[in-house]
Amino acid sequence: MSEVMSYAEHFAKIVEDQLARVEAMKNAHGAQDLASKETIVIGTIDGDGIGPIIMDACRQILEKLLEVELASGQVELRRIEGLTIENRIAKMETVPAEVLDQIRQCDLLLKGPTTTPGKGDGRPNLESANVTLRRELDLFANVRPVAIPEQGIDWIFYRENTEGEYALGSRGVDINDDISIDFKVTTTLGTTRLARAAFEYAKNNGNKNVSIVTKANIMKKTDGKFLSLCMDVAKDYPEIKVDDWYVDIMAANLINPLFNKNFNVVILPNLYGDIITDEAAQIQGGVGTAGSANIGDRYAMFEAIHGSAPRMVADGIAEYANPASLCRAAVMMLRHAAMTEPAEKLERALDAAAEALDMPGDGTGNTAADFTAFVLERL
Ligand code: NAD
Repeated sequence: MSEVMSYAEHFAKIVEDQLARVEAMKNAHGAQDLASKETIVIGTIDGDGIGPIIMDACRQILEKLLEVELASGQVELRRIEGLTIENRIAKMETVPAEVLDQIRQCDLLLKGPTTTPGKGDGRPNLESANVTLRRELDLFANVRPVAIPEQGIDWIFYRENTEGEYALGSRGVDINDDISIDFKVTTTLGTTRLARAAFEYAKNNGNKNVSIVTKANIMKKTDGKFLSLCMDVAKDYPEIKVDDWYVDIMAANLINPLFNKNFNVVILPNLYGDIITDEAAQIQGGVGTAGSANIGDRYAMFEAIHGSAPRMVADGIAEYANPASLCRAAVMMLRHAAMTEPAEKLERALDAAAEALDMPGDGTGNTAADFTAFVLERL
């Protein structure tokens, strides 16, 4: 077989796998009803780097906040071990099978950041644990709120979570020394279910504006499909104001005070969503301040938007990591489980901590332990 044909075969396999994935999506079960569960099992996963430090803070806070629910068995906090970079490399599995088994037995997950081996860092080419979990648990919507009330900013980002460049990120090919090719995928079902979730949120929250972000002028097939499918879903919500933007100008508009107050619900494909939400979190006060939710029909996983911050660990300042990000994710988790009262209580304590504490994460100011003590005091 010629070399070119071997790449054609590689591509054929990608197409087959994507067709199978779409079939699996079509046959997926409906949403699970958490309210009907006797016990809601929340799995906690420490992760790598600063993960164990911020998770320890968050667990202490949840144990106090949910004292009654934990005692009555309405909620169980279950620690899941083994999703560490060391164990993943030892097993050469992105998410070791026995860890995935434990994860599947939970209803909700609160996850610390996990390290992904990068090019040239001497580690084997393991896929991101997050990408694997989002795919395995079919967590199709990545939801990230950002609010700066004093500037009139109230954004919520709906990032597609299982497709785009990420679905095939480890299946690109180096053709030779001169050429490398990656692949990007958009599906009708994958886009439509995300768009529907975003429009439902907009409708249920007073018909907020919806903005769709793509680069459909350049990525004509994948982003073009994404945009036209979102516009199709919009037709079912005639009372909602909808506009669309290219991702480059959206990046600029987020820091333009003439425009940024007008954005509310923003729908984005995977890669642009990844980038734009970090920018938005930085505008809010840094990646350490923002939480995110990964929502599917059966499972939901909540986490900080940042990574494992290995530089903080290497510099000996990991204890200065801000647990607010993971705690904000916990607020989203409680709301998702309709535990509105504890969610609001925790949110108030986190707002007070943001006012009172100084946590730049550079080895100065307050530590994660100071943060925990402050929040526990206010619960
Ligand atoms: P990062 O988000 O880990 O950290 C970048 C910088 O942001 C840190 O050096 C630190 O200065 C600051 N920061 C991050 N979290 C903070 C906190 N809680 N408090 C204070 N400051 C904080 O970005 P990176 O260094 O590019 O990525 C490190 C690793 O994390 C990589 O392996 C990456 O793949 C992985 N990652 C994981 C996730 C996830 O698990 N969800 C997300 C992003 C990156």
